Amino acid sequence: MPRRPPVRLLALLMSLLLTACAAYQAQHTPPRAVNAGPEDVAATLEAIAPAGDFTALGDEAQVSRIKGEVEQAKASLASKGQYSCCVRPACSQCLLKYGHCHCREAVKKDGPCCGECTEAWIEGKGAVEGVTAWDILEKKRKILEEANKPH
Ligand SMILES: [Zn+2]
Ligand SMILES: [Zn+2]
Repeated sequence: MPRRPPVRLLALLMSLLLTACAAYQAQHTPPRAVNAGPEDVAATLEAIAPAGDFTALGDEAQVSRIKGEVEQAKASLASKGQYSCCVRPACSQCLLKYGHCHCREAVKKDGPCCGECTEAWIEGKGAVEGVTAWDILEKKRKILEEANKPH
């Protein structure tokens, strides 16, 4: 049986090198790996919100930054009970228009949700137990009827 120590030595070196690399990366790479899922919001934001002066960013990067900030603002408002949307993922219209969202309560009672949410309900993204897209559309129809009533 021929002995082959060089190969084993090489393998050992390789594995040492890889371990060292992994350890180095773990300590020195600032943008964390994104673990898919809503629980890792911070990492997701790091990934989609490019750093740097806003005006110096290209169009695509500016949009990414804004999207990241919109998500951040929604998450922050939600933690304070100020963003409770009726669809998943939550709308952005209420954030930009009102600075808060209470669609969820609104659709449970007799109120309407925002236009973005109406669209999302039609696409099957509604997220309120006992409410259907038809209920949402029926509310909108009533609003339209009210608005067109002769007075
Ligand atoms: Zn909503
Ligand atoms: Zn909304």
